[in-house]
Amino acid sequence: MVEITALKQQITDCRLCAERFAQTRTAHGPRPVVWFEQGARLLVAGQAPGLRVHESGKPFTDPSGDRLRDWLGLSAAEFYDTRRVAIVPMAFCFPGYDARKADLPPPRICGATWHGQVMAALPDVRLRVLVGGHAQRYHLGTRDGVTQVVRNWRSLAPKVFALPHPSWRNTAWLKRNPWFETELLPVLRARVKEILT
Ligand code: SF4
Repeated sequence: MVEITALKQQITDCRLCAERFAQTRTAHGPRPVVWFEQGARLLVAGQAPGLRVHESGKPFTDPSGDRLRDWLGLSAAEFYDTRRVAIVPMAFCFPGYDARKADLPPPRICGATWHGQVMAALPDVRLRVLVGGHAQRYHLGTRDGVTQVVRNWRSLAPKVFALPHPSWRNTAWLKRNPWFETELLPVLRARVKEILT
């Protein structure tokens, strides 16, 4: 079994992307946000920390996090309980901004280096919540777009739920796809409650 404390320390110390991040507009250094413990039953697989999370050092401490907790039906205390919930993005560090001030994609090297080891260290995960296209492509091996993957949610449940990113940028998507809130979310909340209690 992977020794989880050592693995967490290795990720915390990781500087593989230092040169890449130094060349972004924010010229920041790596700050891996590592948030998982042995025994977690719910995996939240996201994209990468944004700038606010880079500064706080805690995942989803932003409006996207508020929306995601609402989607899952979890309080902040429940969501941040590492004994039950593991939050493992496809990159552990903020990747920087592109020219339109949107977040750059997670560096591939992060998922390739760490994700398999983290998943091997979390054998008790019963439900994987895949937030956004990067996590969906990694975990499902799909090349389909987010809308198509999320629309097919019944073929993935109850072990996997694919979600759009909870960013404000997807508010129009939510309006165009009302079934997401009326059909998918009630089933997701019931499943989260089931595996965490
Ligand atoms: S994004 Fe991942 S691979 Fe890159 S420095 Fe951070 S922890 Fe290391």
